Amino acid sequence: MAVFKAPTRDIKFVINDVLDFPAHYAKLPCGEDATPDMIDAILTECAKFCEEVLSPLNQVGDQQGCQFDNGKVTTPDGFKEAYQQWIDGGWQGLSHPVEYGGQGLPLSLGLLKSELVGTANWAWGMYPGLSLGAMNTLYVHGTDEQKDRYLPKLTTGEWTGTMCLTESHCGSDLGQMRTRAEPNDDGSFAITGTKIFISAGEHDLTDNIVHIVLARTPDAPEGTKGISLFIVPKFHVDENGEMGEFNNVSCGSIEHKMGIHGNATAVINFDGAKGYMLGPKNEGLACMFTFMNTARVGTAVQGLAAAELAYQNSYPYAMDRYSMRSLSGHKNPDKPADAIIHHPDVRRMILTQKAFAEGGRAMLYDAARQGDIMMFAETEEERENADNQLGFVTPILKAFLTETGLECANYGMQVYGGHGYIAEHGMEQIVRDARIATLYEGTTGIQAMDLLGRKVILDGLKLYRSFSKRMYGYGLSILFKPGLSKYGRKLLSHTFRWNRLCVGLLLRASRNRDAVGAGSYDFLMISGYVTMAYFWARMAETAQKKLSENPSDRAFYEAKLETAEFFFERLLPRAIGHAEAMRGSVGSMMDMSLENFEIR
Ligand SMILES: Cc1cc2nc3c(=O)[nH]c(=O)nc-3n(C[C@H](O)[C@H](O)[C@H](O)COP(=O)(O)OP(=O)(O)OC[C@H]3O[C@@H](n4cnc5c(N)ncnc54)[C@H](O)[C@@H]3O)c2cc1C
Repeated sequence: MAVFKAPTRDIKFVINDVLDFPAHYAKLPCGEDATPDMIDAILTECAKFCEEVLSPLNQVGDQQGCQFDNGKVTTPDGFKEAYQQWIDGGWQGLSHPVEYGGQGLPLSLGLLKSELVGTANWAWGMYPGLSLGAMNTLYVHGTDEQKDRYLPKLTTGEWTGTMCLTESHCGSDLGQMRTRAEPNDDGSFAITGTKIFISAGEHDLTDNIVHIVLARTPDAPEGTKGISLFIVPKFHVDENGEMGEFNNVSCGSIEHKMGIHGNATAVINFDGAKGYMLGPKNEGLACMFTFMNTARVGTAVQGLAAAELAYQNSYPYAMDRYSMRSLSGHKNPDKPADAIIHHPDVRRMILTQKAFAEGGRAMLYDAARQGDIMMFAETEEERENADNQLGFVTPILKAFLTETGLECANYGMQVYGGHGYIAEHGMEQIVRDARIATLYEGTTGIQAMDLLGRKVILDGLKLYRSFSKRMYGYGLSILFKPGLSKYGRKLLSHTFRWNRLCVGLLLRASRNRDAVGAGSYDFLMISGYVTMAYFWARMAETAQKKLSENPSDRAFYEAKLETAEFFFERLLPRAIGHAEAMRGSVGSMMDMSLENFEIR
């Protein structure tokens, strides 16, 4: 079974030393309670819950899966009890408004909680995780009456929420969606249709489930401009927020799938269920983006979680598995062979996991910091700037961190050799669980198109320039610093190449629209590597400074510097390969006629 230990020292390094959360929180209206002592206490308690309660249920959840019987779903043994402990601990409302029963702490502290929960047991974490998206959507787009009715019980965790977009014929292209919303006399709507693949769509953890559903009113225009958003509870909720009669929302079945067996992926049937419009009519997709963006950053956490869990379980195995002798001389002369950690190829895999996990963590916590700024900005300019930075980085986080997370999960299996393929060790479960992350919440292909098509080309490079300014500025600032100048040079040269690709693509796209789609995946990966390089350079600078101030914690800071070196020497050069591929002709991808694809 894969074991989990909360990486609290590493999280503290990122939030306190690299990103200076204490100074950041001091500027937030809700930040006065987020003192270092409070953060320490949250980390300690959350780590305990995740290590002792959730992690042991990870393999149980995988082996038992959810059971479906006549519309009811039973979660694996222990899931329900763990969820009750979650409610009792007040974890769900940590970063949500006090007026609805939350603790009002900054949004970014919620990420810390999501990382630990998700690494310990991703399938379990999806139940409260989807609820967070529902809560945010209600909070941003709901009327006061809607918020008062639904938010208190979602905030305590007594109810959970879902996101209902996908139908059998469309997932990426929601313009094709068919679920209907017919107006009732009382101002509500009768929702009819079937949604598929709904995570946490049905379960036995709570009495009620609040579905956030996309549907079309009868007079709605075709395509994405005719979609509205609705709150559809499984059981009616009265004006005091209390649960009433059944609302014709039923679970038709759950999917048999590759991984995340402990989370129910449900077919949900709405048979004239009463729904309440959330946000303006026909602007449902825009409102749902509040949910989807929460879910996209949440899914990026899944990539980090896979890399971290795979690393945590690869490294001890590699220390303890003996195979052949190291080419540079015996390392364990008292043993019949040397530990595999001494073989460069095994180190390559383990250092890749470490570099992607720690680099991904810095990227995510910085995005969470931008989220706090956006939420509590004092000026419109400040809010807009944070919104832009977050909007630009979201597809990079979602796609790059899930792709690299999956690579790290695969390396976890590889480090174990044949034993990695055997269920008992839990390494193959990490791969199966991580595989979905590049698919749901918008596939890697869809994120890549969002980044290059919408956020770079259609925007005329404005967002791109404001985002890449940070890399240029920082690269220049360390260009002459001893030990860091090599990172400054590399960061600058990769950022220049990235910039040239953008400008080149603008020109190519004006001649051939397929140039955007043909280059989008490589562009996204380059964006991920350059962004991560920026954070690795910053972590190296911090580690260097700390090492000179605090030699008592040498091993920790030295490891940071060594991992930074590995990232810049061995992983960042991959961006050059992606750039070369991007410059390839569009015809090499698009000229083949459909009949030449035929199997002969
Ligand atoms: C376990 C699981 C949980 C899920 N949870 C939820 C949930 O809670 N709520 C929910 O609503 N949905 C959920 N989904 C659905 C999920 O979000 C979709 O499956 C996903 O968005 C892809 O949609 P699709 O399956 O229809 O694939 P399609 O849209 O048919 O895509 C097929 C392929 O074509 C590519 N493609 C499509 N259009 C383009 C384009 N324009 N340019 C380039 N490439 C393109 C895609 O990248 C993909 O590779 C879940 C799915 C699974 C399997």
